[in-house]
Amino acid sequence: MTGTGGTGGGTDGAPGGAAPWDDWLERSLSELAGRDLLRELEPVEPAEPASAVHVRADGRRLVLFSSNDYLGLSFHPDLRRAAARAARERGSGPRGSPLICGYTDAHRALERELAELKGTDDCLLFPTGFAANLAVLSSVGSEGTTIFSDELNHASIIDGCRLARRRGAELEVYPHADVDALDRALEASDADRKLIVTDTVFSMDGDLAPLDEIVRVKERHDALLVIDEAHATLVFGETGAGVAERFGVSDRVEVQVGTLSKAVGALGGFAAASPEWKQWVYNRGRAYVYSTAPPVPVVEAARAGLRAAREDPSLRRRLWSRVEQLGGRLGRDLESPVVPVVLGDEERAMEASRGLLERGYHVIAIRPPTVPAGTSRLRVALSAAHSEEDVAGLADALEEVGAVS
Ligand code: PMP
Repeated sequence: MTGTGGTGGGTDGAPGGAAPWDDWLERSLSELAGRDLLRELEPVEPAEPASAVHVRADGRRLVLFSSNDYLGLSFHPDLRRAAARAARERGSGPRGSPLICGYTDAHRALERELAELKGTDDCLLFPTGFAANLAVLSSVGSEGTTIFSDELNHASIIDGCRLARRRGAELEVYPHADVDALDRALEASDADRKLIVTDTVFSMDGDLAPLDEIVRVKERHDALLVIDEAHATLVFGETGAGVAERFGVSDRVEVQVGTLSKAVGALGGFAAASPEWKQWVYNRGRAYVYSTAPPVPVVEAARAGLRAAREDPSLRRRLWSRVEQLGGRLGRDLESPVVPVVLGDEERAMEASRGLLERGYHVIAIRPPTVPAGTSRLRVALSAAHSEEDVAGLADALEEVGAVS
């Protein structure tokens, strides 16, 4: 890519005339490449027959172990039918932001269904989970608030906290899942209002927040608790409500953020909460107010995803039996379908990922800044759509490339 200049000025018709930017961009990209940190966009296509985990990429047929489609719902016939029907009957675009004209009966129905799943009185839909965290944190955090955030929280939470700081909130980052440190920090704080925010399943480590203890601490300090169940919705809990359900604390959490882009098999985000919190966020959350509503075909796909998961609990059982199978092979107790294989430096992780590709497995190497330096890793994500053979083959391949012994 060349020519980063604005409105032309080059003699050959290409944009130009911004030499300082061309130099800067070239230097910055080569610096990333020199540190093995340059990422590339590679198309991943469904293979024949279409399935959630069989794909074509890099000229090969591969089994996908890098997707967040934990129940395999993105290829479920009900979701495909629901999306196609909605597109045929209601068009593709929502035409505007929800407060203008983009909110429909389909959005309202999905919000009710998510509230029912999460055990809350209401729910607010967003175009993505990223937008949900931005809007919730930036609208709730302001002057007089201190936000206490786990050090391994997702980038969208980090950015939401940054926006809240711009509005006068203070931020304290506590050591990962360390409830004693959190308790001490809350005790030492004289903020008028305290807010704790945590992922429930950490996206790059696959471990769980100690939510029962966090709830006890938050109640002792009269804090507000915002949890992000992105990787937990439809994966954890008796009915698939998430880690809050698994710990029996759903009714003691004020805001439950989640995404429709992972186990639900569609796209979008949500915040399940009381009608009052919902109203505050849709009035003051800029990522909500100034963004177009999710398209109806996507909303209908998500509704079908929730229904399919409710009607077929064997999907969740299947996922967990794959988790147990891989845990058995790796000799580890796995807490979730997200399985990190930490290898250390970037090059080692990239090499292992290439080795797996050659053997027919798509597993992405995760490098800084997504994870701390020196902890580059393979991130294996399991799905109910994987067969036992898929998982056994992956475990063999991980040994062959020297990622595990
Ligand atoms: N929170 C967590 C913990 C996530 O892993 C992600 C997605 N990577 C998000 C939020 C953002 O969700 P979405 O992809 O729907 O924007």
